[in-house]
Amino acid sequence: RAAEAPAKAEAALPSPDRRVAVLLPLPLREAYDYRVPDGMSLAPGDYVEVPLGPRRIIGVVWGPGAGTVDSGRLKAVVRRFDAPAMTEVARRFVEWVAAYTMTPPGFVLRMAVSVPAALEPPKAMLAYLLKAGAEPPPGFKMTDARRRVLALLQDTLAGGPPRTPAELAEEAGCGVTVVRGVAEAGLLEPVMLQPTRLGRPDWSRPGPSLSPDQRAAADDLRGRVESGRYSTVLLDGVTGSGKTEVYYEAISAALEQGRQALVLLPEIALSAQWLDRFARRFGAPPAEWHSELTGAQRRDTWRAVAKGEVPVVVGARSALFLPYPDLGVIIVDEEHDSAYKQEEGAIYHARDMAVARAHLGGLPIVLVSATPSLETKVNADSHRYARIALPSRHGGAVLPDVELVDLRRDRPPARHWLAPSLRKALTDTLAEGEQAMLFLNRRGYAPLTLCRACGHRMQCPNCTAWLVEHRLARKLQCHHCGLQQPLPHACPECGEEGTMAACGPGVERIAEEVAELFPEARAAIMASDTLFGPRAIQEMVQSIGRHELDIIIGTQVMAKGHHFPMLTLVGVVDADLGLNGGDLRAAERTYQLLHQVAGRAGRGERPGRVMLQTFMPEHPVMQALAAGDRDGFYQLEAEMRLEAGMPPFGRLAALIVSGEDPTLVERVAMALGRAAPRSETVHVLGPAPAPLALLRGRHRRRLLLKAPRSASVQPLIAEWLERVDIPPAIRVQIDVDPYSF
Ligand code: ADP
Ligand code: ZN
Repeated sequence: RAAEAPAKAEAALPSPDRRVAVLLPLPLREAYDYRVPDGMSLAPGDYVEVPLGPRRIIGVVWGPGAGTVDSGRLKAVVRRFDAPAMTEVARRFVEWVAAYTMTPPGFVLRMAVSVPAALEPPKAMLAYLLKAGAEPPPGFKMTDARRRVLALLQDTLAGGPPRTPAELAEEAGCGVTVVRGVAEAGLLEPVMLQPTRLGRPDWSRPGPSLSPDQRAAADDLRGRVESGRYSTVLLDGVTGSGKTEVYYEAISAALEQGRQALVLLPEIALSAQWLDRFARRFGAPPAEWHSELTGAQRRDTWRAVAKGEVPVVVGARSALFLPYPDLGVIIVDEEHDSAYKQEEGAIYHARDMAVARAHLGGLPIVLVSATPSLETKVNADSHRYARIALPSRHGGAVLPDVELVDLRRDRPPARHWLAPSLRKALTDTLAEGEQAMLFLNRRGYAPLTLCRACGHRMQCPNCTAWLVEHRLARKLQCHHCGLQQPLPHACPECGEEGTMAACGPGVERIAEEVAELFPEARAAIMASDTLFGPRAIQEMVQSIGRHELDIIIGTQVMAKGHHFPMLTLVGVVDADLGLNGGDLRAAERTYQLLHQVAGRAGRGERPGRVMLQTFMPEHPVMQALAAGDRDGFYQLEAEMRLEAGMPPFGRLAALIVSGEDPTLVERVAMALGRAAPRSETVHVLGPAPAPLALLRGRHRRRLLLKAPRSASVQPLIAEWLERVDIPPAIRVQIDVDPYSF
């Protein structure tokens, strides 16, 4: 029995007939009514356990019950958790995100109640180390599964962390009983894990003395935090201008007031350098929130945030949904980054949702970038957002020189990818004892493997994508669905042997060329699949900082935020890579990425040099990068979008129709096309193949709804979907404000 959640129902609960509406973290549109047992008292926001069918499930009291079923026939709330209630702001935020993204509120709630175990009182947990020197007892059968468990714990003899039985079972791919068996045989050492204690950053520690520009910017932010009112500010400063030091002041101001600060980073798992720097500035690290955390870390962090014990959280987009008691400021670093767009489950853009969160909570939000998204840029230009500019690099470092390498003239030798001028620059850089980075946003050895005899291309059977050769791993991989297969000896199409050839470069192949050209140089690849986890990335970053490497060959893992004073040359192997394809956002995204990559060069005392290899030196993106004409580029890009009525000047929403049966997908997509809303100002484009028309075995077609900026697209879409029958085998996803168009 359903009740829509009223926002102002804080007062009398439970209602006279002792019922409450409870929102459950499931894809449900509405809250369900439950009876409040005698002696229990509930308020909105309380976390409760309730029965649902045969299960018990955790939900949140959303308001007074409103259903018509006799309360005697309702199921009763089982218990109320002894945890701080979800705040009204947090509940309104769930409703707002649900309404904006057209996702069921319960589904959004699931992101906020992502760690149910955190609601239980903290307790020490059993975990195991390997017992040194222990021999299996007579009769102990060493099965494969048991051997895997023991192998996993090998590192604990050298100080590795103890693991819980559940973690071991999952990692070893066996049941918990296997772990128990090994423990009972006396081969493991039990220990009790205490909940992790998080450090408390100290706002009163003095930061570095700021330049006059930085000081003015920091004072502005401080004033906003102290005002305790909503505002959005774009902190717009060139790479290396000291933006981070400036927003640390805003964090310090929030902590001084006893409130919390949230910092969103696009790829927190890659941000070890950021974490170290924060810890040096504030004397303790922030709490982290991202997908790499263990279950225990998630539980302890969630609980500590709810209790107000965590002053600063740094996290990925999901950190927006943590239970902050009193958030004082939000920082969105690299606000233009596409990693903020969540494309699965609830489809949302974390930057935009963060602005909404700040608005609901009445607090300032700072969007930080050297290359803002066009959306943010336009909002700042029209004074909807405030802007604070930091126009020069800190400490007098100059911005790097950007040169274009015209690959049509300055051609690399056959089956090689570095042009003579770039080779020369590398030689000079090494001779000076400086570091160079080669950037190519493509993992693996070669993006395409084809048969020289028949032309057959190795393609993923589940996705619209080629299989990428990973020579180090000796595999072909699909970068979309994760499919892996061995490299074929013979062509699977024509059967010829020895005809399969690698086409085009990935970072592994560039590393091969570097080794051939500079056998003496210390070179390494830095890509998400060559570095396993945040620690490996941190070690690599530190060893670059200590100048233990001369040439780094990196993907975008390398592009973000790092500060390497000895790095003076950046070579972009294929600057055109992002520009192909029909995406209208391609130029903006390529400009932002290359600008950021270029920003890695010359951050220390020595000036930097950037070389962009391109077949399109006249392209506006290349011209703007070479001339350092950021505003010119944005101007041109804005004119084009305005002309086309595209975001940020128009509104878009996409419907993605997917299913395993292509004919059925097409039929539903066509039906949606016929039922589409149409008016003088609203148009629907498509159906057309979605980007990645086949993904993980599902065929995908897309319809794009285009409306004026002032239009509210959600009601249009809701009515549209009512007009078409969607069979159960077909999924229709709604993407309001799609990132690519
Ligand atoms: P951005 O975030 O704009 O790229 P950073 O905040 O990373 O810039 O600053 C670039 C470099 O300059 C960093 O090494 C940082 O420690 C240093 N820096 C910035 N501001 C100051 C300051 N006021 N005093 C000393 N060093 C600073
Ligand atoms: Zn695939």
